[in-house]
Amino acid sequence: MKYIDESQMNIDLKELYDRAEPSMKEYKTSEYIKKRLTEMGLSYTEAFVTGVFGTLDVGAEKTIALRADMDGLPFDEEGKEYSHLCGHNANMTTLLTTLNVMVKMKDKLNVNVRFIFQPAEELVSGSVEMIKAGCMDGVSEILATHTTPDVEFGKAALVEGGTMAGSNHFDIIFKGMSTHAAMPHMGTDTVTAAAEYIMSCQTILTRKKSPILDGLISFGKINGGSASNILPEEVRVGGTFRHFEMIVKKLIEHGMKVRLKAIEDFYGIQTDFTIHEGTPPVICDKTIVGKLRSLCEEKNIPLGEYEKSMGGEDFAFYLEHAPGAFIWQGVRKGESHPPLHNKKYTVPEGATLPGVTLLCEYLLSQ
Ligand SMILES: [Zn+2]
Ligand SMILES: [Zn+2]
Repeated sequence: MKYIDESQMNIDLKELYDRAEPSMKEYKTSEYIKKRLTEMGLSYTEAFVTGVFGTLDVGAEKTIALRADMDGLPFDEEGKEYSHLCGHNANMTTLLTTLNVMVKMKDKLNVNVRFIFQPAEELVSGSVEMIKAGCMDGVSEILATHTTPDVEFGKAALVEGGTMAGSNHFDIIFKGMSTHAAMPHMGTDTVTAAAEYIMSCQTILTRKKSPILDGLISFGKINGGSASNILPEEVRVGGTFRHFEMIVKKLIEHGMKVRLKAIEDFYGIQTDFTIHEGTPPVICDKTIVGKLRSLCEEKNIPLGEYEKSMGGEDFAFYLEHAPGAFIWQGVRKGESHPPLHNKKYTVPEGATLPGVTLLCEYLLSQ
């Protein structure tokens, strides 16, 4: 597409990469975006600390929203340095480049384009705050892009239906009476209780859920004890569970509570179970994905293969207001590429081109 300014696109990718900032502190990133929007003659509203949204208004009845997330991730253990380990610089670059083309081609547009630059995706709270600020008002469809090492460089990938899982976190405290490790019968054993509980949760997925449905329970934290010969008073564990269907979410929650009650009874301990509600699943609209897929074929945009992912995304909250789709952009050159959130994850120049082309063609096809 002739209006895509590839050299500016690569400048944006690098400039935004160099500004990587923590969630809700994307100040320099926000300044850069506002500068670029002003250069394009687009006005905007500021929302939720560093968020920016606005509309390329051509007076059409329909408005399609495009969303990019803005935050980086900690690069070192102390959280002093930040980097774009999830490639959000690429998502912002895709949106800026698409807007630049649409501004130049606005005479050919039959749809208004709402742009949403959203902070704090990694905290899964940014989208909710942007929606409260009104970024979805009047929007009838929403699209977003994200890079992935699972797809080859130069290709886009689409998934009909669920593409990212619903994600919830939990914390559990096992509380008992400490005792000498050589005299477990004189107190309670919160360590063995926690260990047995962790193992028992996996059969909720394999024995209580239909094997055809997807679901996951992972424990990422376990803390307790101060000496090898003391059974501790308390063990704390934490983790996450994932689902695509509401029935699986309910089944996991119920199963985890039932298992916990059985552990309490057997070990003579108490437990505290807290679920932190996260994001619903990202379910892509089949009609919109169908149109995107046909455009890829018509306009020679190479399509890659992508399976749905158990990762979570707060893009799901926008989909509660309008149907939409998620477009994956490939970064993998050769056999392998570091995974998302890995310290070595980077997006090569040019990886944003398929997403830009597809978004532009989709907007122009309206
Ligand atoms: Zn991420
Ligand atoms: Zn991300």
